[in-house]
This record gives sequence, C-alpha cells and structure tokens, in this order.
Amino acid sequence: MKKTKSWLFAIIAVLIIIAGGWVLLVQLEGEQPIITESIPEAIGKSHTFTFTLADHRSGLRKVRVSLLKDGKQWDLLEKEFEKSGMFSGGQMQETTIDVPVEMDKQGISDGDAMLHVTLWDYSWRNWWNGNKTHLEKALLIDSKPPTIEVLSRAHNVNQGGAGLVIYRLSEPCPRSGVMVGDNFFPGHSGYFNDERIHLAFFALDHTQPPGTPVYMEASDLAGNTARAGFYHHLRKRNFAKDVINLSDGFLSYKVPEFNVQAPENSSNPLLDKFLEINRTLREKDEAFLSTLGLGTEPEMYWEGTFLRLPNAANRAGFADHREYRYQGEVVDHQVHLGIDLASFRNAAIPAANTGKVVFAGDVGIYGKTVAIDHGFGLISMYSHLSGIDVEVGQMVSKGETLGRTGVTGLAGGDHLHFGMMIHNIMVNPIEWWDSNWIMHNVTDKLKDAKSFDTP
Ligand SMILES: [Zn+2]
Repeated sequence: MKKTKSWLFAIIAVLIIIAGGWVLLVQLEGEQPIITESIPEAIGKSHTFTFTLADHRSGLRKVRVSLLKDGKQWDLLEKEFEKSGMFSGGQMQETTIDVPVEMDKQGISDGDAMLHVTLWDYSWRNWWNGNKTHLEKALLIDSKPPTIEVLSRAHNVNQGGAGLVIYRLSEPCPRSGVMVGDNFFPGHSGYFNDERIHLAFFALDHTQPPGTPVYMEASDLAGNTARAGFYHHLRKRNFAKDVINLSDGFLSYKVPEFNVQAPENSSNPLLDKFLEINRTLREKDEAFLSTLGLGTEPEMYWEGTFLRLPNAANRAGFADHREYRYQGEVVDHQVHLGIDLASFRNAAIPAANTGKVVFAGDVGIYGKTVAIDHGFGLISMYSHLSGIDVEVGQMVSKGETLGRTGVTGLAGGDHLHFGMMIHNIMVNPIEWWDSNWIMHNVTDKLKDAKSFDTP
C-alpha cells in the first residue's frame, strides 16, 4: 500500500514538472514578435503601408497601427488574430497586412509625422498580455508636387545633337531631368552652390524627329511628380548615306576573330557569320556602351573644346546610314554612331578633354575601347585601339595619351572610331569640337545661370 502511494506521488510530481516546463517554455515563451516594414521617408496624398508580422512561437495576437501628427493621433488599423485553442496559441504565425491611408479623407495635413506599429503575441507573459514589439518611424507627409523653374533659355537642339538645361527645384527630388520622347536624361546638382540648381545635358537621338516631345520632369521623395515645359527648338538634320562593299578578303580577315555561328544550311557561312556580327553582336555591344554613362559624376571635369585626333582625315561621319553590299547585292543596313578618323598607323590618341576613365577593355565589334566620363552625363569613347595606356578610375587630362589607333574589332584599316554620348544616347562629336557651339549651348548658359546662385 505504502509503495503504491509513493509511486503515485512520483508520477504526479513528474506530471507537475512536465506541466510546469510546458508552461515555462511554451506558454511563457519570451520571444518578441517581428515586424518587417518598408516605411518610406515621405508619403503623398494616399499611401498603403505594408508590414510583415511574424511570431513563430505562440503566434500573432494583435496589431495596432497609428499615425501621430501635431499632437493628434489617427488609428489606421487595429486587428486581432484568432486563437486556435485554450492552450495552443495563435492560429497565425506569419502574415502580411496592408494599411491604406488617405490624407484628405482622414483630415491629415502635410508635415512631419510619426508612424507607430505595435504587435503582440499569444505568450502568457506580462500577465497574459503577450510579448510586445513596438516600432516608431518618422516620415514626411507631402501631397504637393515639386516646382521646376527653368533658368536657362534658348534650347536649340539638332537631330543627333546635345542640349543643356539648367533648372531649380523647390524641394529635394530623387529623380529629375529632361524627357525627350521616351528617353530620360537625369539632372544633377553640384555645379552651383545652391543645391536646388541642377544641370541636365540631354540629346535628341538621330532617329527622333523634330516633333518629339521635350519637357522637364521631377519626382519628390513622396513620389509627387511635376512636369514643366521649356522653350526649345529641334532641328532636322540630314545624315549621309554610305556604301560599304564587303570583299571576301575583308570577311576572311575579320570574321574568324569573332566567335559566332552560321546557320547549318548556310550557302555562304563567311557572309552569314559577318551578318551575325554586324547585327546581333553590334546590338549587344551598343547596349553595353550605353551603360557607361550611368555612373557619371556631378563634376564638370572638362573645359573648352574637345580635341580631335590630330592630322586625321574624316573617314565616316556621325549617323551615316550604311548600306552593306556583297557582290553587288545589298545584304545589310546599319547606322554609324561615331566619327572615323584616320591618321598614321598606331597614332597616339589624346584624351579629348579632362575626365575619369570609366572603361578600358574589349567591346566586340568596337575592339579595344576607352571611355571617359567628363561629368554630368557627358562621355567620350575611343575604339579600335591597338593598345590602351590607361586604367579604369584614372583621371586623365585633356591631351594625355590614352592609347594608340589600330584595327581591333570590326575595323578594316587603322583608324580611330570616336564617339560622344549623353547619358546613354550617342551624339554628334562635331558639336563638341566646335568652340562656338560650346559657347552658345553650354558656357554662356552656365554664366547666365550664375546670377541665380547663392554666393
Ligand atoms: Zn566607326
């Protein structure tokens, strides 16, 4: 009898220990629920906050989201989550919630505000109130778009040419610049003392007609977008036509350098491979070159006219429409996006102006290529080089030797392919060799805008 009793006590004691352990470890778990947010610095007229809530121990109990501004509080959301049973915590362990807010409807005015998010779980801690996570984040409510004030005048832009617009923004805008058709040219501050004044170099692509829409666009931190027109005149340009006769000699000299395949049933693999290079590889290479200006620095590195390769003849012009013929038959059409300059073999190539080397290496049909960032989205490019003397990241001064001319890439004879680019659009280098053009379109504008600057 005595033995059974002590056994019973032992079993009860074990059960109590297990139950106590369960209460302590499971029901009284002390892990904080987690709030994952992406609250922006600023929001506009209406916004939807998104939060991910998680508690993988006792589950989600309750969430409250409120906005505090000028001593007033707006409760945006209060939500309770179901319990799954007396002893088994919350049904929901993880969920995403959307919390919309409409400033006009809810009577919230513009200005600095504070967002509060509080989340509880189903733990028995804190006298059955659960573990609590609280988050506070400051944000700006801004329902008004920025104002764009164009400070420069007379923007005359040639097809395939460049322009500069100087403008002042009423508030910080992560994105502002010029739209030319579908092309966006971002502006940058940093030239003037007044951080609100921006420069944007822009281009009318050689394919865009004079009727192309051109206007300013700016979006503030809250995403409010403003547009502004500015006086501009777009001029049509006629581009030259050129015929390139493809000889078997040229094809058998150049094609093997490229790793391309001709279709299996091809009757002329050499020509088909050339066409693959001239079309597919060209497109890929040009897409790559168009990325070289994206990391441009807001620093006006350059000064005066850009240098042209000395003692060199123009072999091909900007936006020449090339017709490729093989044995008298037209086999391809392409547009030449630079100027070809031929001097003597392996001629030293001077940097057209001061800037920072942003690329030095091989670019398919362009061969060995150097690209220089002159700041504010203006890039010069040098291709078909036989050798490169500079490295990425290096500052080069106007006239400094970058490398030597050559025949790398799809070049038949020794020459320099010289290109200029605004942001990601190739433009006519002739404008940048012309001191009058630079004066009227860049330097005079910068001088005039100086009067708007703070000392
Ligand atoms: Zn060329």
